[in-house]
Amino acid sequence: MRHIAIIGSGPAGYYTAEAAQKAFGQDVRIDIIDRLPTPFGLIRFGVAPDHQSIKAVARRYEKVALSDNVRFCGHVSVGQDISIAELQALYDAVVLATGAPHDRLLDLPGSDLAGVYGSAAFVGWYNGHPDFADLDPPLDGRDVVIVGNGNVALDVARILSKTVAEFDDSDIVGHALAALEQANTRRITILGRRGPHQIAMTPKELGELGRLEAASPRVDPADLPKEAADAQLEPGMRKSVTLLREYAVIPEAHRATKKVSIDFDFFASPVEITGEGRVEAVRVERTRLDADNRSVGTGETYDIPAALVVSCIGYRTPPIEGVPYEQGRGRFANEQGRILPGLYCVGWARRGPTGTIGTNRPDGYELVERIFEDIGAEDMGAGSGKAGRAGLDALLETRGVDLVTFADWQKIDEAEIARATSGHPREKFVNVEDMIGLRGD
Ligand SMILES: Cc1cc2nc3c(=O)[nH]c(=O)nc-3n(C[C@H](O)[C@H](O)[C@H](O)COP(=O)(O)OP(=O)(O)OC[C@H]3O[C@@H](n4cnc5c(N)ncnc54)[C@H](O)[C@@H]3O)c2cc1C
Repeated sequence: MRHIAIIGSGPAGYYTAEAAQKAFGQDVRIDIIDRLPTPFGLIRFGVAPDHQSIKAVARRYEKVALSDNVRFCGHVSVGQDISIAELQALYDAVVLATGAPHDRLLDLPGSDLAGVYGSAAFVGWYNGHPDFADLDPPLDGRDVVIVGNGNVALDVARILSKTVAEFDDSDIVGHALAALEQANTRRITILGRRGPHQIAMTPKELGELGRLEAASPRVDPADLPKEAADAQLEPGMRKSVTLLREYAVIPEAHRATKKVSIDFDFFASPVEITGEGRVEAVRVERTRLDADNRSVGTGETYDIPAALVVSCIGYRTPPIEGVPYEQGRGRFANEQGRILPGLYCVGWARRGPTGTIGTNRPDGYELVERIFEDIGAEDMGAGSGKAGRAGLDALLETRGVDLVTFADWQKIDEAEIARATSGHPREKFVNVEDMIGLRGD
């Protein structure tokens, strides 16, 4: 028997568990540990609430979770409730699938002003992450600035500009929906340091901005490169740039019928955030591209009013004591997923915050090949003598850690579905104590 602990129940954690089941068969016991009582990581707390079809991938993870040799151990924080060294003493392999839950900081003068958030916090707020449920972002102003040119920036812009009716069928949390209904937003500016050919936005997300009930995207035609240059782009990017070209020719008369304008400001780098006690404006420097397509400041600056700033410029994995860490890249130091003997990482904790949900699948499968090489298939019956889950349970009990099982999560899930308001698939609990209280034993 081999014992594997996977820390993190997001896509990377579950694909790794699935792969380990296939590689080791019945000769493995897998514990998936998560600091939250709810499984599936960013499927629940990152993927936008109006993208329910994407969230459906959780059903595949549920199958894995319900297998005999896999167990979900929620509400256990590694590094706090239990250390990596302790886990290594109990398991043959310990896999860090902890994602990259911290924002890469917008390191500018004024970025600590009230009303300035990173996307982990802002997205966590509208998705009901217990750490951010109380964020209460200011939505009373007319102007919002979003920093970044990736899909997260598009998610944030879309959520900020949808009408209440457009959230039908979404699982946006009640507190966010109520706040958005009262919002006074009229202009959302999306800042990108470089140009339309350098965006990291996919056609699906970009296309949605063109179909909003009360908002319309605006692109300055002068920012677009010559159309012939699009031929060099890969097909997905070409589609995205084609959408930007369409947005550049939306007639003013049509735009005037919409309440909110979503303005793409390319070649624009924020240099300072200003305001008395709270954010009032973002100072931006106009940029241009150098020969290597890097952005270079031109010295010309201007101010964009803003009552709310959300920076969507990437994420970092927080370090865990005893685990080698790459400061520059904000992830665990690893060689193809190997950190130290018996200690591995996978998903965003390994690669950094890039790629889609699906990218984590090959990552998990490849890592398990390495784990299989390292801890081998031989003598699996005899086992390594590690205590595995029995040892974990004993240790957590001595510490009074209140472990949440998958059956407990299923009760939380049922209760969320039962209390959903009309037109929504669920109303999430946003408080850990409330969730734990639901177990009823
Ligand atoms: C805002 C946003 C929207 C996205 N939308 C899409 C989309 O529409 N489509 C798409 O394909 N991809 C999307 N992605 C990307 C996708 O979510 C990631 O590729 C994927 O979630 C990464 O998986 P992961 O398992 O590495 O990390 P995560 O999903 O972050 O899972 C990490 C898990 O580890 C747990 N954890 C962290 N630290 C500890 C600890 N110390 N102890 C115990 N547990 C811990 C966390 O609670 C979490 O459950 C989006 C990402 C973001 C940020």
